[in-house]
Amino acid sequence: MPASFGLQTRLLIFRVCICLGLLLPGCYSATARMPAWARNQPLAQNGFVVHPEPGISPLAVEVVTARIADVRDSLRTAYFPTVTAFYPESPLQLVLYRDYRSYRAHTTMLVETLARYDRRLHVVHAPLNAGLSTWRHEMTHALLEAGRPYSPYWLHEGLAFFMMEQNVTGTERSCADFAAVRLPDFLIPALLQIQKQKQIDSIQIFDSDARAIYSSDRYVISAYFILYLWQRGELREYLRLYLRTPDATADFLLTNGNRSGLRDLMHAFEVWLKNIRPGASYRGC
Ligand SMILES: [Zn+2]
Repeated sequence: MPASFGLQTRLLIFRVCICLGLLLPGCYSATARMPAWARNQPLAQNGFVVHPEPGISPLAVEVVTARIADVRDSLRTAYFPTVTAFYPESPLQLVLYRDYRSYRAHTTMLVETLARYDRRLHVVHAPLNAGLSTWRHEMTHALLEAGRPYSPYWLHEGLAFFMMEQNVTGTERSCADFAAVRLPDFLIPALLQIQKQKQIDSIQIFDSDARAIYSSDRYVISAYFILYLWQRGELREYLRLYLRTPDATADFLLTNGNRSGLRDLMHAFEVWLKNIRPGASYRGC
């Protein structure tokens, strides 16, 4: 990933975040270098390679990694059953910080983030007390990237936000087992802004200049687009197709390369988006 943003982009991101009052749960808009203690011998725990900040007790590391492993395994079972790259060839690394303050001190932030996944090194940086929804967000990034490296940002963030409020538990799941899902409330102000727009032009979320999603509404649109696929009952099949067809792009696979079909799909999505009730839950699969 390129490490630098242009000044204009930084300003835009800053404005968007001020407008939304957002604390993003971990995206690519922050850079966290590996802290000095990551040079110590890491721990192997619950399928992760763990770098705890000195001072964190072994018991706390064990409890937290067991919790994160639960999140990983549940998400994997429900949405990424073919993803095996975690085990054991390239285990995910976890850099655990004592607290949020320490996480912040080690992270260069363009946007305030609660945690961060670095796909170049396959590492999650997070404070020890990060919440479940934050872990669902970061594990989604890690699983998607393990399933198909360099997946587009819209798909990464769309899925990661979509998973945050999902309590995915259990083993094999049928559609009927899935509870209705909703997106996190902190996306609602942005949704209300988007609903006021005359024209949404959501097809732009697929632009190849992917990082631009952080300087606009695109990551919010991405999240609702994933919710839209879910309520149409198409999300799981789409993900399966995406993970087993590495030669085709994510947007190509939505309509099997039919451009006018894609435009129709996005138009239907925009109509849906304009009319949804903020905070509503949706059944799907
Ligand atoms: Zn993210």
